[in-house]
Amino acid sequence: MRRTLVSAIALALSGVTFAASAQSAAEISRAAHPPMVKATTQLPANARPSHYVVEVTPHADKMAFDGKVRIDLQVLEPTSTLVLQAVNMTFANSALAAAGGKGGKPMVAKVSVDADAQTATFAFDKQLAPGSYTLSTDYTGVINTQANGLFALDYQTDGGKQRALYTQFENSDARRFIPSWDEPNFKATFDLTVNAPTGQMVVSNMPEASSTDAGNGMKKVVFQTSPKMSTYLLFLGMGEFDRATLNGENGTEIGVIAQKGKVDQAKFALEAGRDVLREYNDYFGVNYPLPKLDNIAAPGRSQFFSAMENWGAIFTFEYSLLLDPSISNVSDQQRVFTTAAHEIAHQWFGDLVTMAWWDDLWLNEGFATWMEGRTTRKLHPEWDIDNVDAAYTSRGAMGGDAYATTHPIVQHVATVEQASQAFDGITYGKGSAIIGMLEDYVGSDAWRAGVRSYIKQHAYGNSVTDDLWQQVDKAAPGKQFIQVAHDFTLQPGIPLITANASCVAGKTLVSLVQGEYTIDRPDKTPLRWHVPVSVRSGGNTVHALVAGTSSVELPGCGAPVLLNAGQKGYYRTLYAPAQFKALSDGFNALPVVDQLGVMMDASALAAVGLQPESDMLDLTTKVPLDASPNLWQMVAGTLGGIDDMFEGNPKRQAAFRKYALSRLSPKFQQLGWENRAGDSATTKQLRSSLIGILSGLGDDKVIAEARSRFAASATDPKAMPPELRRTILGIVAHTADPPTWDKLHKMAQDEKSSMIRDQYYGLLAAAKDKALAQRALDMALTDEPGATNSAGMIASVSREHSEMAFDFAVAHLDQVDKLVDSTSRARYYPGLGYSAKDLKMVDKIKAFADAHIAPTSRREAETVMNSIQTRVKLRAQRLPQIDAWLKKNGY
Ligand SMILES: [Zn+2]
Repeated sequence: MRRTLVSAIALALSGVTFAASAQSAAEISRAAHPPMVKATTQLPANARPSHYVVEVTPHADKMAFDGKVRIDLQVLEPTSTLVLQAVNMTFANSALAAAGGKGGKPMVAKVSVDADAQTATFAFDKQLAPGSYTLSTDYTGVINTQANGLFALDYQTDGGKQRALYTQFENSDARRFIPSWDEPNFKATFDLTVNAPTGQMVVSNMPEASSTDAGNGMKKVVFQTSPKMSTYLLFLGMGEFDRATLNGENGTEIGVIAQKGKVDQAKFALEAGRDVLREYNDYFGVNYPLPKLDNIAAPGRSQFFSAMENWGAIFTFEYSLLLDPSISNVSDQQRVFTTAAHEIAHQWFGDLVTMAWWDDLWLNEGFATWMEGRTTRKLHPEWDIDNVDAAYTSRGAMGGDAYATTHPIVQHVATVEQASQAFDGITYGKGSAIIGMLEDYVGSDAWRAGVRSYIKQHAYGNSVTDDLWQQVDKAAPGKQFIQVAHDFTLQPGIPLITANASCVAGKTLVSLVQGEYTIDRPDKTPLRWHVPVSVRSGGNTVHALVAGTSSVELPGCGAPVLLNAGQKGYYRTLYAPAQFKALSDGFNALPVVDQLGVMMDASALAAVGLQPESDMLDLTTKVPLDASPNLWQMVAGTLGGIDDMFEGNPKRQAAFRKYALSRLSPKFQQLGWENRAGDSATTKQLRSSLIGILSGLGDDKVIAEARSRFAASATDPKAMPPELRRTILGIVAHTADPPTWDKLHKMAQDEKSSMIRDQYYGLLAAAKDKALAQRALDMALTDEPGATNSAGMIASVSREHSEMAFDFAVAHLDQVDKLVDSTSRARYYPGLGYSAKDLKMVDKIKAFADAHIAPTSRREAETVMNSIQTRVKLRAQRLPQIDAWLKKNGY
């Protein structure tokens, strides 16, 4: 699954700067139990399914479906009940037959459901002896309006309103579609049959086996038997679709499916699928095992994911799959490519080999996130992402991991809601960063050899984290690999390495002390990690495994000392003042990746008072006009992030803005508004970022130009080229007055493309003006935006008006509940308070959690409360220092 809050690398690519990735802190949380790697299950261990034969008849108009299922299973110990998982179902004709007709007539089952436990218990008059059986039942289920189980997405086309159906089962919603052993360790094969309207296309994991006319405008579509897989990977989609295909390597048919008339916009994704599949067949050393791999585009959105790796039938919301040539730019191409690379990596890591239980979810998500970066770097060198990939991946999760509310990568998951909450910044971002560090530690060949034998060994089965470590350890003899891997996956938090250099007998002696970087616990006793540290000075690099204290020696004296060269290490570096000064003086001679790393560390250490703010601010003065766009992106993001802290102090904010504009405006003037021949991808992205950040810093000229281009675009499409379109619309929406808002509203109503229409409704919720924000909130509760846009509108309002959005959602709880995926509500409401700058919000979230969130599901609420408290406290410490620096520099 790919999160809506995208990975650090995707944030960096999209031109959203590092400061913004702190938002992912809202998704970080604490596990209530110590880490464990043992698989747990919520179902009794007395039976195991092996094969499902399912037939469903959806009634899209009635938002309900009928089903029949036959499940081949093994009873493992004597029992008179079989417990399956099921939600919102009714049952009829339930019976159990012994395999091969043994035992006479089928036994009738009495079914009782437990809505809270999400189970259906099939009870029999007599004890079942261990052996093979077939359980059969008829049932009914519901079609949902959000992405849980079988769900509907409605959209407008030139031909009127359309309704398409899709399924979304991860983490625990296959039980809304089939009564089943709906946990990842109960792998089975599936035969799916669907009764559908004749004119619709029906898609599942496997190709069709047959399609026959069933009369009355209906057809019966039977799919080939799936491979052995977890329930959460089953897929069904049906609607008025088109499909385009390519022949992939090894006979695999690569397909994309979209609403009728839109499949041409999926050409880039189709080719990406072919290229990525070829790359992965090679990397994993096991060929993709299904006959086809489809990627299905769907209108609308979810608050929590953008794509899902169903085996052979990836589901992706349109905005991450289709490229409309009139509005798409290089950032959109990157999003489509990285999303496909992520989901296709799951076809091996997740689908072929699956974590035994949600404790090890990071095996799926950390790996797919790491793989998307690796593959994008390799297959699209022209996007020039090597520097940001290394620097941002290693630090993307550190914002959240530095709080008391963090958790180890491997964590205990006990409930469905906890599994849902495990899809967070630690699982994705830190997981990916640790893989990057471990690969760097053992070398890429040894790492890949370990991955290959792990995949081979566990294909079609389940695994735990240590299964992967054992294989990599075997491939990397002589390293303390398992020690390092355990330190970083079984404990939470971030090592801090303090470096101090001295010249001893003509050599540079660097002492290294391992501590812990935390944002909210300055007096915490540091945990102990074995940290692979690289130290570079004067062209020489040495490596050390640092736990506690250590030292290294390099030839010669006097050259600056740099730690974490290449930035693959998951730690922060605190230099002694003299060493930092030497690095700072020689800043422009460092490789770009290390410039990014040094700036990010200085900024993070200044934020908690370990380094003066002036160190970081001095670095922003040093970047020359012709520096890498990556570096300018970082400077712009850093300055944009500081501006926010001056809210409520217009006089000093004006002074800060004067400084920030003195740095950023000359760079923007050099780039100008228009694309130039030969502009690189990163230059185009920087131009767009600078426009957004300059407008945020109150640059009237930039805001006026954005507005005038928007006005002109009604008659001249060139006024708002694809590269700048989203940025310009963002500025126009944020600064909108009532007539402008009405104009955007009219554009939304008139728009026929579902993808563009969804964007416009999102923009309506971005206004700074309070009255307009209220209009957006009111509109979100109507049918107008579409069932899956409304929750996003309320969340958008919350970025500028967190209290207003939070209060509104709580006041309309029953209505808003229907707009959010059911297992995600415990995350959604507290998240609305995240941008608050006032401690009052902490009390409100606390009261809400006490009243509405189960005690076992409060990690998001606790995280948001902690973030607000810490932000308020740190702001009070940081602002005077920043202000003093401004004054000293004449601002
Ligand atoms: Zn994923």
